[in-house]
Amino acid sequence: MKTIEKSKVITVALAGNPNTGKSTIFNALTGGRAHVGNWPGVTVEKKEGYFKYNDQNFSVIDLPGTYSLTGYSVDERIARDFIVRKRPDVIVSVTDSTNLERNLYLLTSLLELGVNLILDLNMIDIFEERKGEIDINLIEKSLGIPVVLTSGLKNTGIEKLKDTIIKTVGNNQDHLKIDYGKDIEKAIENVELQLTGINSPYPRRFLALKILEGDIEIIEEVKRQGFDNAVKTGVYETSKLEKEFGFDPETEIIEKRYGLIQSIVRRSVYKPAYAEEKLSTSDKIDRILTNKWLGIPIFALMMWITFQLTFTLGDFFADSIDAFFGWFSGLSSGWLTEINAPSWISSFISDGIIGGVGSVVIFLPNIMILFLLLSFLEDVGYMARAAFVMDRIMHAIGLPGKSFISIILGFGCNVPAVMSTRTISSEKDRLLTILINPFISCSARLPVYLLFTGILFTKNQGLVVFSLYTLGILVAVLSAKLFKSTIPILKGPVSPLVMELPPYRIPSAGGVIIHMWERSSLFLKKAGTIIFAGVIVIWFLASFPLSAEYAGEASLAGQLGKFLAPVFKPAGFPFWQAAVALFFGIIAKEIVVGTFGTLFGGEGKLAAAIPVYFSQLSAYSFMVMSLLYIPCIASIGVIYRETNSWKWTAFSVLYSVLAGYLSAVLIYQIGSFLL
Ligand code: GDP
Ligand code: MG
Repeated sequence: MKTIEKSKVITVALAGNPNTGKSTIFNALTGGRAHVGNWPGVTVEKKEGYFKYNDQNFSVIDLPGTYSLTGYSVDERIARDFIVRKRPDVIVSVTDSTNLERNLYLLTSLLELGVNLILDLNMIDIFEERKGEIDINLIEKSLGIPVVLTSGLKNTGIEKLKDTIIKTVGNNQDHLKIDYGKDIEKAIENVELQLTGINSPYPRRFLALKILEGDIEIIEEVKRQGFDNAVKTGVYETSKLEKEFGFDPETEIIEKRYGLIQSIVRRSVYKPAYAEEKLSTSDKIDRILTNKWLGIPIFALMMWITFQLTFTLGDFFADSIDAFFGWFSGLSSGWLTEINAPSWISSFISDGIIGGVGSVVIFLPNIMILFLLLSFLEDVGYMARAAFVMDRIMHAIGLPGKSFISIILGFGCNVPAVMSTRTISSEKDRLLTILINPFISCSARLPVYLLFTGILFTKNQGLVVFSLYTLGILVAVLSAKLFKSTIPILKGPVSPLVMELPPYRIPSAGGVIIHMWERSSLFLKKAGTIIFAGVIVIWFLASFPLSAEYAGEASLAGQLGKFLAPVFKPAGFPFWQAAVALFFGIIAKEIVVGTFGTLFGGEGKLAAAIPVYFSQLSAYSFMVMSLLYIPCIASIGVIYRETNSWKWTAFSVLYSVLAGYLSAVLIYQIGSFLL
């Protein structure tokens, strides 16, 4: 057996289609906690972790899920670039063993990259439960690479995988070379000839194939290096094949790959009829959930139930948090009087910390419940169906079906939602999807709604909040329509939805809870950092100059607010506290609540102050304003990062300011007229 230097860190990359269990295997290998989820686009950035085995150090990379390596989408480019530029020692191709035909397509591209491969047949627990059988030897022989069976869920086969990784390092695998048939092979050869001497991390045959497949990125790269002749030869060979044989090489190449996979799978995998039966249960459910007429009402109902539960269950817990803060506030003020603390410290603690941060943290149970329910729907596999159902509507609007996924993610937080657009292959569709996402009501807006509806709309809290979420979607959709018809580079047809429906799974309770906790803890972390800092600034502004009354009009906050407040007169909330809240809400929307908490001083007082300042109508217009008026700082940052353009970032900010303000004014004015 060969020896590997112990000091060397072995890099292992996990590649595979979305939803095959890459992140689960990543977690099993590293003991890490990569985000696991039952739909595409969850892992949007590669993730790295480490483990030690047999005294050997390993570094593992969880690549984003891709169906091929054509470089059509950002995801595919990330995966491809990593594989060819970082040259990991071993690539583990994670596949869903219950769906091998489709899954192995990616493997064919990996084979062509000439890397050291291991085929991981994951989800073997399901496969075995369905009494399937696999002739591993035959697959290994056919492909020329080692095969390992694993279950990420049951944690089986992981040791074997580690052993196989060690055995694979440093091999010069002599694996299957796909034969594309005489004519195409001739064309590949001719293009390859023109590539002699090129300095590229890609094998020449791979480059030649990609040129024939019309891969824009590879063509650019080859041109950059001055090998224009290879591209010309590619164009020539392509048209020759088209003319002489009546087929376009790209389709033919793809078909050959599928044909090859099929023949391998047919010979080595046995799937009993049971598998079909199992599938048909899933199909039966799908027939209802994705039904042409029922699909959308069912989706609306699901969301409605989700929000109802968020309040009814959440309020139940919120009372205990409220009680805790009451107790804490009493305790601390008692203690502060006892030690004769200066009054500004008492004010800082009771108004700043308890009033400001406390008024936000009180909504933690609601947020946890919302995330718990969304995680559940996601892990069961329902959200992917929702995207499927919405695809038709999305198309009618001129949006790709995949942007619906980012809309759903936006309910949680717009930042990952904007990042998830990386799975959208058309740049135009992607930009459009990014631009409308900030209107989707993220969880940071929820405390604002809860604060107002809890006090002013007690009878129909669920309905009012539901209407705000719907309004967010509506504004997003109308904006998309507007952008598409007015901005030239966004025009044009949208690409069709290519997304498979993952099978329904009963999610593990642990998984759902971890999932929920990851997101909720982000909220808590935010409360402890950004919101805390924001509230301190506001408390400070409310306390100075010292001559002024705390949170009075003469304080700095009061002066700032008074300067801005007239603008909001037509929207129905012309008092300075609202202006300050909105001003600082740009940092994070929860700060809107935190600001009121600080300025009105503490829990009980806040609830008493709201009805004094707001009517139902002006509260609604204020909530609409909070929903739409601007993406928070983090969202603005990610919009810039993903569009890579100040112009679009500025556009997004200005447009939402306008949309928020106009909507609030419109609602208030029409409302005042009618009521
Ligand atoms: P990724 O998109 O490839 O990263 O896939 P994930 O790791 O996020 O897993 C997708 C879903 O499949 C999750 O719900 C996992 O719990 C589930 N899953 C992963 N591996 C297995 C497995 O071996 N068996 C079963 N039954 N489920 C699995
Ligand atoms: Mg993943």
